Amino acid sequence: MNIIVMGLPGAGKGTQADNIVEKYDTPHISTGDMFRAAISEGTELGIKAKSYMDQGALVPDEVTIGIVRERLSKPDCAKGFLLDGFPRTVPQAEALDALLSDMGRKIEYVLNIEVDPDELVKRLTGRRICKVCGTSYHLQFNPPKVEGVCDKDGGELYQREDDNPETVKNRLEVNMTQTAPLLAFYNAKNVLSNIDGHQDIDDVFKELDAILQGNGQ
Ligand code: ADP
Ligand code: ADP
Repeated sequence: MNIIVMGLPGAGKGTQADNIVEKYDTPHISTGDMFRAAISEGTELGIKAKSYMDQGALVPDEVTIGIVRERLSKPDCAKGFLLDGFPRTVPQAEALDALLSDMGRKIEYVLNIEVDPDELVKRLTGRRICKVCGTSYHLQFNPPKVEGVCDKDGGELYQREDDNPETVKNRLEVNMTQTAPLLAFYNAKNVLSNIDGHQDIDDVFKELDAILQGNGQ
């Protein structure tokens, strides 16, 4: 299956993507995770991306499209993939279409998780992430069993630098202006499903799973 998980920052894309890839055994491609890995490795890509990410701005399309093109050409994507946080602009979506059509493939599901902006601010500022596996927790909404420690691998939890109130505000504004045309793009292709992301994590997953099984709305 070729899947895109969409939603504003904090909507629960990463959390649900983890659930989907576990069940459907498909590679999880997160552009944000790829940029953060490049930053911690100190590569040229990381240096370029960091200046944008620190401000809550989008990394330029040509850079982002380049890393996705490279990733999708890897053998593990041959049977399917899940894109998390890409595309975020119409030019990215058009470039993805062109890339997939060259490979004789197309997007089958666009799962758009909808959450109100006020709620997103709470989710992002309370988010904590495992340094080892990248799993997202939340201080109130999804706390780990032991404070500051990942349930899965005992890794230390940290707060992302861009999850501070000022950068969060900017990220939400930037992403909101890009979202409507992107939704229209996929709606016109009849692959878009909108999911109420205010529900509990497990209930959101049940809806996503039903859609992927062909039983959704
Ligand atoms: P995204 O990848 O879209 O930025 P995350 O999956 O990292 O979002 O989730 C953002 C924050 O909200 C995390 O702290 C996560 O634990 C929490 N969260 C995710 N889904 C829900 C939900 N349905 N209800 C409450 N909190 C949630
Ligand atoms: P979130 O969904 O919580 O904003 P991500 O980890 O997906 O977090 O993205 C973090 C940052 O990485 C973004 O604020 C942006 O700077 C950059 N980024 C990620 N995906 C893209 C993309 N598709 N296009 C441009 N920039 C991106």
